[in-house]
Amino acid sequence: MKGKLVFKLGLWMVLLFLITVGIVAYSFRKTVLESAEETAITVADVVRDTLTSYMVLGIMDKRDVFLSEIKDAKGLEYIRVIRGEPVIRQFGEGLSSEKPVDELERLVLTTGRMMSELKESPERVVYKLVVPYKATATGTVNCMQCHKVKEGEVLGAISLAVDLTHKRQEALTLLGVYSLLAGGVFSLLFLTIVRHFQPYSRLFEDMKRVLNKFKEGNFKEKVKAELHDEAGELAQVVNSVGEQLDSILSNIRQKVSMLIGYSVMDTENDLKDTEKIVNELVKISHFKRTIEQDRRKEDIYNRIETVLAEYMSLDKFSIYEVDHRRNAMKVISVHGEEDMWCSKVILEDANECRARRTGEDVDSQDFPCICPRFAHNDLCTTAGLRYYCIPVNMGGKVGNVVQIVYEAEMDMFIRMIIPYIKGYLQEASPVLESKSLMELLQEQSYIDQLTGLYNRRFLEEIADKITAQAKRRGSLIGILMIDIDFFKQVNDKYGHDVGDRVLKEIASVVKGTVRESDYVIRFGGEEIMVLLMDVKEGFSVKVAEKIRKAVENKPIEITGGVIKKTVSIGVSEFPKDCEGKFWQCIKFADVALYRAKEEGRNKVVRFTPDMWKGGEEY
Ligand code: GH3
Ligand code: MG
Ligand code: MG
Repeated sequence: MKGKLVFKLGLWMVLLFLITVGIVAYSFRKTVLESAEETAITVADVVRDTLTSYMVLGIMDKRDVFLSEIKDAKGLEYIRVIRGEPVIRQFGEGLSSEKPVDELERLVLTTGRMMSELKESPERVVYKLVVPYKATATGTVNCMQCHKVKEGEVLGAISLAVDLTHKRQEALTLLGVYSLLAGGVFSLLFLTIVRHFQPYSRLFEDMKRVLNKFKEGNFKEKVKAELHDEAGELAQVVNSVGEQLDSILSNIRQKVSMLIGYSVMDTENDLKDTEKIVNELVKISHFKRTIEQDRRKEDIYNRIETVLAEYMSLDKFSIYEVDHRRNAMKVISVHGEEDMWCSKVILEDANECRARRTGEDVDSQDFPCICPRFAHNDLCTTAGLRYYCIPVNMGGKVGNVVQIVYEAEMDMFIRMIIPYIKGYLQEASPVLESKSLMELLQEQSYIDQLTGLYNRRFLEEIADKITAQAKRRGSLIGILMIDIDFFKQVNDKYGHDVGDRVLKEIASVVKGTVRESDYVIRFGGEEIMVLLMDVKEGFSVKVAEKIRKAVENKPIEITGGVIKKTVSIGVSEFPKDCEGKFWQCIKFADVALYRAKEEGRNKVVRFTPDMWKGGEEY
């Protein structure tokens, strides 16, 4: 900008200089020409009047002397008298010098108008003037007395030329001196202006730089204020606006960091960063309000998935939950991979998960293949895939791990969104924790403390659900009612504590014999009920037999030795045995159990309708 301004100013100065020099040159020329014309006309008038006197006095033959004298006296190039047509007619052609020699002279004779011509060449400047003499009866001399002409007829003309070469030389010298002076003055003026405006130009340059930084959201830049006038005040105003904005924005960022407990990405554009933070905060707060109203943990996980997949546009990630009782990781969801992004070892031992074990972020950018349990470490060494695992703290323990898998070129983006993902997880963590506690509490209330089996309350809770499901699917539920034979004797012989241990052992044998999807319930006292889900018809008896044998063959260690116990099992099948009445079927299993006891114990008895003598219906 400064260069442009100086150039423009210089151009104006040169133009102004040229104009003044032009004006001066033009004035010189005009003055010289006018004075030449004036002299020439005076000379012409004198010549005319003198020659007229000569004529009247009859000494016309002396005219050449006179003309020669006047030529020398006035420094003329030449001076000639030219005869016009009426004079030639009356007095003959006269001297040869009295004939018109050029077009200018002929034109003046025919038109009767005074004409001039300036002949300029590099060597010389000659000013030619031809003045006509017109016949007139008025004035001091009456032309008509001598000339036989009409009033106004052109008698002749005086043609003279003035050499202006030396005048031109003088003018040029003067013009040169003037140009030098003017050039000096203009240069001085130019330098003064440039010097005066330089600080302003610098200020504007600096202001432009600072305002451009403001536009980029950087309010730390300052205008250098070296002027102490209005321009300096303007610079100070710009600086104080920047300072205020900078302090307000950093205040907002600081408060937000304190509020959310982590700092967010700093892109050096305070404006954009603040806008993004506020937008994200609004979203996170909305997210928090929403999950607080969710009833189940699964709903919260679904929302976290939506945040990752839709808000953050991530296509590869996993969410894990830590099962503290089993000390194992549980997969909640996997995106972008059919199976798992991690080795299945973590499903057996949670300590194999680095994020869970260390409680710190696991970033494969810090060290490629940092976690040996990442399933695609072959790709991470070739820099194809990277991962970032975030442990989610819950009551001092890692409750969840969120794993983000990404391509190396997404690195910048991932680094930018990590703080926001943490923001969401931080909000979700206490809600997830309370839901986990609720689930645990609820689970605890369904578990029998001694055996670890489900209790009767649990049976009551699930009865409607599982029976409806079985009816809908047309599947069978096998009901096994198990009772330990002569259990009382154990209590009597070894004491209640041993009795408890025996009960516990047998419960564990039963649980280990059936499938994970079957329910094993402590029905009461030393009675265990097993619900075999989706069992094939008649298959329940086989399972019951398996249990019976397993218990029979299980040596139970007690203080001072080993004992073996047996069980009797009554079997019924829902819904066909009891026309869809679940509690009736349970009763029938109990009836069959009674029959097994009657028949000598350590037996499996399948319920048959003949065993039911009627009675109370359930
Ligand atoms: P059988 O069933 O073969 O007819 O003989 P039994 O001796 O097992 O008789 P019953 O089933 O009627 O006896 C149940 C006994 O189990 C009564 C009670 O003392 C004992 N029992 C019930 N619950 C517990 C328990 O939680 N711990 C202990 N140690 N004993 C229990
Ligand atoms: Mg018993
Ligand atoms: Mg009993």
